[in-house]
Amino acid sequence: MASIFTKIIRGEIPSYKIAEDENYYAFLDINPLAKGHTLIVPKKETDYLFDLDDDLLAGMSVFSKKVAWAIENVIQCARIGVAVLGLEVPHAHIHLIPINSETDISFSKPKLKLSDEEFREIAEKIRMALK
Ligand code: 5GP
Repeated sequence: MASIFTKIIRGEIPSYKIAEDENYYAFLDINPLAKGHTLIVPKKETDYLFDLDDDLLAGMSVFSKKVAWAIENVIQCARIGVAVLGLEVPHAHIHLIPINSETDISFSKPKLKLSDEEFREIAEKIRMALK
C-alpha cells in the first residue's frame, strides 16, 4: 500500500506544497513545530533514509539546501534546523525547522495549530522566495 507521503506526492491527499522536481517533493508539515516547518521527501518510496542509494541521498541534501534558504528568507529565525526521525511515517523524509534555540526543535513540544489560511500564506511566501 502506498505511504501517506506517496499519496501526497500523487496529489491524492492535499498538501501545502513548497517545491518539487523529478526526485523530491517538499511540503509543510501539518503539525509544525514552527511556522515554515517543511518536510523533504524522495518520490521513490523508501522507509529508511539511509537505505536510499547514494545519489538520491546526496541529491536530497542539495534539494533541502535550496528549500532551507527560501524558508530562512521568509521566517525570522537564527537558522534552519534539520532532523530525521521517521518514527511515524515509514517513507524517508527530512524535517527543516526554523529555530532560534535548541528547544525549538524538540519533538515533544506541543505543535502549532495553524489555520488553512496561515498554511497557505506561509507556503506561498516560501514558494516565492524559491524563485
Ligand atoms: P516522523 O515520521 O518524522 O516521526 O514524523 C512524521 C511527520 O509527518 C510528523 O511531523 C507529522 O506531523 C507529519 N505528517 C504526518 N502525516 C502528515 C500528513 O498527512 N500531511 C502532512 N503535511 N504532514 C504529515
